Amino acid sequence: MNAPLAHPNLSCRHVLDRLYEFIDGELTATVHEAVCRHLDICEGCSAELAVRAKLKAVVHRAFVGDEAGFEAPAMPAELRSRLADRLAELRDGPLPA
Ligand SMILES: [Zn+2]
Repeated sequence: MNAPLAHPNLSCRHVLDRLYEFIDGELTATVHEAVCRHLDICEGCSAELAVRAKLKAVVHRAFVGDEAGFEAPAMPAELRSRLADRLAELRDGPLPA
């Protein structure tokens, strides 16, 4: 992918590595800004952001419920730990091609 980068030091790899922190609002203002600019011009990364933000929302709902009063159903400990493992894999694993 040869899209011109608004921030030359920020590659797709950098952005994707920081997506969860971006979603959680844990980045410094400077990095957050740089990621925003990258997402503006990079379709691949913004698509990935949409997927991960959605996944995170679904998981959040499943674990703790949401503000609308949805109560998370009791989850068997084994399922909960498998899900946590899977999430860790998604977070740390290789990027999808
Ligand atoms: Zn990108």
